[in-house]
Amino acid sequence: MNTEKKKGIITRVSGPLVEAKGLIAPKMYEVVRVGDAELMGEIIELKGDISSIQVYEETAGIGPGEPVYGTGGTMSVDLGPGLLESIYDGIQRPLKTIEEKSGSCYIARGIEVDGIDRDRTWDITAVAKVGDLVSGGDILGEVQETSLIMHKVMVPPGISGKVKEVKSGSFNVTETIAVIETFEGDLDIPMLQKWPIRVPRPKQTKIFPSEPLITGGRSIDTFFPVAKGGAVAIPGPFGSGKTVTQQSLAKYCDAQVIVYVGCGERGNEMTEVLNEFPELIDPNTGEALMKRTILIANTSNMPVAAREASVYSGITIAEYYRDMGYSVALMADSTSRWAEAMREISGRMEEMPGEEGYPAYLSSRTAEFYERAGVVKCLGTEDRTGALTVIGAVSPPGGDLSEPVSQATLRVTKCFWGLDSALAYKKHFPTINWLTSYSLYVPNLEAYWRKEIAEDFPEVRASALTLLQAEAKLLEIVKLVGMESLSNTEKLTLEVSRMIREDFLFQNAFDKDDSYTPPMKQYRILKSIMSILTIGKEVVSRDEFEYSDFAKLEILKEVPKLKDISPDDMGAYDTFDAKVSESITGLVAVTK
Ligand code: ADP
Repeated sequence: MNTEKKKGIITRVSGPLVEAKGLIAPKMYEVVRVGDAELMGEIIELKGDISSIQVYEETAGIGPGEPVYGTGGTMSVDLGPGLLESIYDGIQRPLKTIEEKSGSCYIARGIEVDGIDRDRTWDITAVAKVGDLVSGGDILGEVQETSLIMHKVMVPPGISGKVKEVKSGSFNVTETIAVIETFEGDLDIPMLQKWPIRVPRPKQTKIFPSEPLITGGRSIDTFFPVAKGGAVAIPGPFGSGKTVTQQSLAKYCDAQVIVYVGCGERGNEMTEVLNEFPELIDPNTGEALMKRTILIANTSNMPVAAREASVYSGITIAEYYRDMGYSVALMADSTSRWAEAMREISGRMEEMPGEEGYPAYLSSRTAEFYERAGVVKCLGTEDRTGALTVIGAVSPPGGDLSEPVSQATLRVTKCFWGLDSALAYKKHFPTINWLTSYSLYVPNLEAYWRKEIAEDFPEVRASALTLLQAEAKLLEIVKLVGMESLSNTEKLTLEVSRMIREDFLFQNAFDKDDSYTPPMKQYRILKSIMSILTIGKEVVSRDEFEYSDFAKLEILKEVPKLKDISPDDMGAYDTFDAKVSESITGLVAVTK
C-alpha cells in the first residue's frame, strides 16, 4: 500500500499531531502511515506544502526527518459478516487479533489488522436472481451471521445494473458472490464493503419517528421516552450512573443490534465493560448478548485522536445494520472525552479557540454525529425501513450543564436524561431527575401508546408528572413551615408522589426481576398508584376528614408490591384497584 512516490517527510511532532511536507497530492482526510513505525494517521489540514496529520497511535519516539506515506484512501471501516461479537479499538482493529500479533496485552504500534477476518467463510443464500435489475441497497444474499441476526448482503451504494451471476454457498468476505453488469462493465461483488467513516451512509428519506425504543426502564419508557431513531443525551457527573444506564440499555432495549462505543472513559471502567459484556445473556432470547453487539473500546490510555475515529467507526457500522432494515442503537460513553480530544488537537494546531478552549467546530461536529440518528427508508427498491437511535453520555465537569459539550449536545438531541448526583447520594436509582429531564418525542409516541398500551396512557403519564412537580413545590413549603400547615389534599399529593418515586421510579438495575418492566406493566403500576389519588382526593377533601384515617389504610401497604406482580398477571392490578376503591369508599361511610 505504501508507495515511495507519495512519500513525505515529518517536519514537526506535537503529541498526536504530526506535520509533514512533500506529500504528493495529499487529500483532506487521507489516511497516511507516519514514521518508520508506520503509525496510522489521517490528514486533517492542508496548508501550502504542509499536511497536518492526527495520528491514531502513540507518537513517542517519532521525530522530524522520518517518512510519511500517503495511501490515497480515506479512513474507512470494513463492513460485512463478522462484525457482530467483535471487540474493536478506535480504528476497527479487533483487540484479540492485535493482542496476538503484538504478543502482549499492550498494543504494539503500526500493526495492521483487518476489521473483518478474511479467512473465515460464511454460508450465503442468494436472494437476488440472475437478470434482476438492482441498485445500491438491494439485497443480493443472506448470511446467518449469529443466531440472532440475519446479515443482508447488499449492493454497495452507487452501483446499479443487471445481476449476471449470484451465488449461494460458502465463501470468505473477499470472494465474489455476485457479478453485476453495469454501464462500465461487469463488477464482481464480494460480501465485504468499505465505507469512509466521516460520510453518512446514504438512505432514501428520513421518516418521522413514531415508535418508542422500549428499554424496560420505568422512568425512561413512561416519563422520558426516546423514539426508535431518536437521539438522547445523558449528562451526569461522575458516579451518577451513566455507565449503569448505558449498560442496562445495551442489555434490555428492544433494538436488534447494539453498537457500544466506550470512548476514553477511565481505563478500568472500559475493562469492566469488556469483561462483563461477553458474559451477559439477552433476557428476551436467552442467547449471549454479544450475538447482537459490537463493542468499540477506547480507554483513556489510548491516544486521544483514536477517540474521534471510534465514534465515527461506531456510527458507520451502526448505519450499515440500519441499512439492512434493523433497528440499531448506538451508545457512546462518553462523548466528552471525544470533545476533549478535539480540543487537544485543535490547540496543538494553534487554531483560534472557542468557548473553554474547545474549537469553534465543536457544535457542528456534535450535530453531524447526532444527525446520523433517524428512522430511514433504506436505499434499494424493496420497501424497507431501518432505525438508528443514538444515546450519548456526557460528563460535564462538576455536573455543570452550561459547559460547551453539554450545550452542543443538548442543542441537537431531543431527549435529555439528567442524572443527578444528589439522587445518587440518596441511593435513588436510576438518578434521572424527573424535574429537569425531558423528552420531545412524547407527542410522536402518543398514537403508539394509545393503540398498543392504553387509551389513557398519555393522560396518566402527564398527571403523574404534574404530581411530581407539585410535590417539589410542596416540599419547599414543608421545609419552611412544616407538615401541619398542609391541607389534606396536599398531604395526599405528597403521599402519592412519594409512592411514584419510591415504588415506580426507583428501579434496581442489578435485580433480576426489577431491572426490566414491560410497558404494559409500567402503565398498570402507575395507573394503580394514580387511582389512589383520584379516589382519595374526593374523600380527604371533606372538612371533617382526619388525614390519619386515610394513612392507616391497609391497602396502602401493598403499593410497594405492585412492581413484584408478574407481567402475566395483569388481573392482580384490577384486584388491587378494586380494593383501593372499596377501602377508600369504606372510609366515607365511616366519616359520614
Ligand atoms: P458514572 O458512569 O456516571 O460514573 P456509574 O454508572 O458507574 O456512574 O454508577 C455508579 C454506581 O451507582 C454504580 O456502581 C452502582 O452501584 C450505582 N448505580 C447506578 N445506577 C444504578 C441503578 N439503576 N441501580 C442500582 N445501582 C445503580
